[in-house]
Amino acid sequence: MENLPEETKKWRDQFVETIWRAQLDAGMKPCPECGGDGELEYERPVVDWMNGGYLEGYMDVCHNCSGDGFVEDEDAV
Ligand SMILES: [Zn+2]
Repeated sequence: MENLPEETKKWRDQFVETIWRAQLDAGMKPCPECGGDGELEYERPVVDWMNGGYLEGYMDVCHNCSGDGFVEDEDAV
């Protein structure tokens, strides 16, 4: 089954598209903060006594959409 991954990918894209359309129909829009991923990269300061510290990037649930990837579209009325 060599072309299964391609088929699976196609099916997944369709699935995602269906969800997006349903969300848009419900007056939702992709979250502008995370772009619909539901996750956002944050930075946190890490104290490093030897080198003076640095900012560490980490992924966390988007604060704007609570991980849904969609927010209510206030303009769509
Ligand atoms: Zn978000």
